[in-house]
Amino acid sequence: MFFKDIIGQEEVKEKLLHMLKDSRVPHALLFSGPEGSGNLPAAFAFIQYIFCTNKQETDSCGVCPSCLKTSKLVHPDLHLVFPISKSKHVKTSNDLVKEFRETFLETPYMSLNDWFSSLSSENKQPIIPADEANDILKKLSYTSYEGGYKVMVIWQPEKMNTESANKLLKILEEPPEKTLFVMVCNSPEQLLATIISRVQQINFYKLAPEEISAGLVKQFQCDPTAAKQAAMLSDGSYREAQLLLQHADGGTTYLQNFRTFMLIALKFDAPKAVNWVDENARTGREKQKQFLQYGLEIFRDCLMINFGSPDLVRHSGDEKEFISKFSRFIHQRNYEKLLEEFNSAFYYIERNANPKILFMDLIMKTNELLNLPA
Ligand SMILES: [Zn+2]
Repeated sequence: MFFKDIIGQEEVKEKLLHMLKDSRVPHALLFSGPEGSGNLPAAFAFIQYIFCTNKQETDSCGVCPSCLKTSKLVHPDLHLVFPISKSKHVKTSNDLVKEFRETFLETPYMSLNDWFSSLSSENKQPIIPADEANDILKKLSYTSYEGGYKVMVIWQPEKMNTESANKLLKILEEPPEKTLFVMVCNSPEQLLATIISRVQQINFYKLAPEEISAGLVKQFQCDPTAAKQAAMLSDGSYREAQLLLQHADGGTTYLQNFRTFMLIALKFDAPKAVNWVDENARTGREKQKQFLQYGLEIFRDCLMINFGSPDLVRHSGDEKEFISKFSRFIHQRNYEKLLEEFNSAFYYIERNANPKILFMDLIMKTNELLNLPA
């Protein structure tokens, strides 16, 4: 990876470059940021820069032997730890390192979900087991092959169980020489406070819609309007935006579907509700999540209209026209609750809830909320 391949996050890149130029690299870093913010590819861009034997001003050279090895994640001084599903044949990350490299090289912005679905793990929640911590010690006891740093990347350290977290803590308290830990996490609040206190945290932010859409157009040479739409619905995650773009079918369908949902919910038309639920249950999880995310965006824009800031409305054309009419149903007493219902539906769809029950319930709750007096 190169720094130039990382979307946005300019401040972070600068901070990392300064750190290296001033030789102030601490022994443990925590690249902390929401899913899709790019903390994982940034970690590998940073490591490639460290290993590069012909560093350029702001990026690695990309052609020296170290760069070539790092870009394929096969540098001998680069060690990888990530969540696994333990089985007869899989005891530590080592046993799945080939699969991890493949998934990452194909999708550098990969999410935990991408990784889980590439493992056929019979729905077992992947974790970082205690054996892994023993393995870390073993790997770090070797001297570095190329005479420089040894780098240990731990992706999703929040998936460590207590035993492995405690073992890791011991290692961090007495770090082996010339070793750099780069932990890449989405939820730092799930890490032991004692681990957090041993690392320097580098914070990645949710990406702006403009950064995401520019990234999509550059990567896929896609239609800028489709890119903008996907970016707007992605909640700051480049990975989510990529998935949205793959499943995109333009704003009109989103709008039509949302408008139908709201008409049914407003008066609670039971036969139409059953029809809508049946049709939408068939569309699959990605589409259902997009519907809910789209709803959240519309509610937000309704609030902008109600606050007298129509220029802050992100949608345009037919969608803006719909929002200006629909906004009279959204007010202080139901706004937060609608967000809560749509967010929780999103949460449960991601966790394989039955979509028929979930959406029928959502229609009824929306009916109550839309009919609350302002
Ligand atoms: Zn190089």
